[in-house]
Amino acid sequence: MRAFILFLLCSWCSSLSCLGQAATGAPGVPTRSCATTAYQEALLKKDSALLLRQLQTRQQAENASLKLSQSKALRKTTVTIPVVFHVVYNTEAQNIPDEQILSQLAILNNDFRRRNTDTVDTPSHFKPLAADTEIEFCLASIDPNGDLTTGITRTKTDKISFETSRDDVKFASRGGADIWDSRQYLNIWICNITGNILGYSSFPGYNASIDGVVLLYSSIGAPPFNRAAGPYNQGRTATHEVGHWLGLRHTWGAGCNNADGIDDTPNQQRETSGCPDNIVSSCNNGPFGNMWQNYMDYTDDGCMNMFTRGQAAFMQATLATARASILNSLACTGDIRSDFEVTNPADTLVLAGTTVNFIDKSEGSRPVSWLWEFEGGTPATSTQQAPSVTYNTPGLYKVLLTVANGVVSDTEEKTAFIQVTVSDLVVFPNPAGEYITIEQPARVEVRHLELVNSMGQTVLRQEVKERVVQLQVQHLPAGIYYLRIQSSDGLEIKKISVIR
Ligand SMILES: [Zn+2]
Repeated sequence: MRAFILFLLCSWCSSLSCLGQAATGAPGVPTRSCATTAYQEALLKKDSALLLRQLQTRQQAENASLKLSQSKALRKTTVTIPVVFHVVYNTEAQNIPDEQILSQLAILNNDFRRRNTDTVDTPSHFKPLAADTEIEFCLASIDPNGDLTTGITRTKTDKISFETSRDDVKFASRGGADIWDSRQYLNIWICNITGNILGYSSFPGYNASIDGVVLLYSSIGAPPFNRAAGPYNQGRTATHEVGHWLGLRHTWGAGCNNADGIDDTPNQQRETSGCPDNIVSSCNNGPFGNMWQNYMDYTDDGCMNMFTRGQAAFMQATLATARASILNSLACTGDIRSDFEVTNPADTLVLAGTTVNFIDKSEGSRPVSWLWEFEGGTPATSTQQAPSVTYNTPGLYKVLLTVANGVVSDTEEKTAFIQVTVSDLVVFPNPAGEYITIEQPARVEVRHLELVNSMGQTVLRQEVKERVVQLQVQHLPAGIYYLRIQSSDGLEIKKISVIR
């Protein structure tokens, strides 16, 4: 915990210094200004539980990353993250065209797969560390309702610019655009940000309602689609911020303390501005100095060109832990995944005669047809989206749902999904020869059974937890007995005849 708080304090120092420089930079060419750490500081003031959540999330990713690095093999399977871009514009210049956004998507894919044309600019001494992260991005083709989408939403706003600390751009009620389920989509908002800020991102572990990346509209894509002046017009702000979204920190710290937690990025004293033309050393990190070519430093778009193997492993680890759900997203595939539940979660264990309401919880493309099969239920099948089914006979039953969208279909089968029990206490057979079965209604917990003979002597005593119990009586003499059943429903006494 102490180390983490130290990291936060250091992050705050560095973010404050970077914002200060942004204000005093050369006219028209401010220093890169990522507000992710300042944003974190603002959130921590509002949400005291965030620190612990972020710590736990980071620890999970670090453990997973350690396993990845110990196995000495980065993930060989490429994973794809569905993206939705929310363009929130006040002026037409901010309402950037689709082509510019597609240009940005291509840059993300090239940078994360190390297919960027400027890999040649990575110095030979850092080349062995440079990694293909095996992470790709696709434009969502299915929206959260299951309908077709271009993956780009456009919202006209009255706001001239959006403040980082307020996060208004993420809420339609505050002049922005509402988030799409962040378990299924990487949300990227494109807008005008207040205060020379190029972008900011949530870290894994933040509230789902604000999870995503916010980018300045003029930073999106590269020329010829991006018509802004340099040096932040080549789409690297998005690469940097998505790095944060996958858990990466800035490469520098305060005091040469491995502040990013990544072993193969050299320690460096502070952020790098502009575009150095030689080795910049700090923290005794010679002979090759700071890795200012790293996407997680502050250099110009045209000077950054690499993630390291350690950073790639960490991002893969984040995708294996905190962001695992996004790898199951169907948002880019047009596919459909069947799933269902009962409306009342307690209704998977019911008394005979109960009517149970089912709901379709399928994911991906919106279904146009439903075929339910209810073993033991009435009706036995249904084509409704949310059918009601009555179960009259005690037993354990499976339920199937096949959903289809006209092109593809999927079936989910849940065996032993509905358990139907007797409505009242049942003891049988009576008279009994070898054993007595005691069956209690749903939600009754049996705790204690006693069999007492006609002389008042207890001949059998048993502690039980199951609702359905068999008592062996073949060793008992024939006669009349009294079965005392102590359950969560109270004490019941049944007269039993044992026969030979
Ligand atoms: Zn940053």
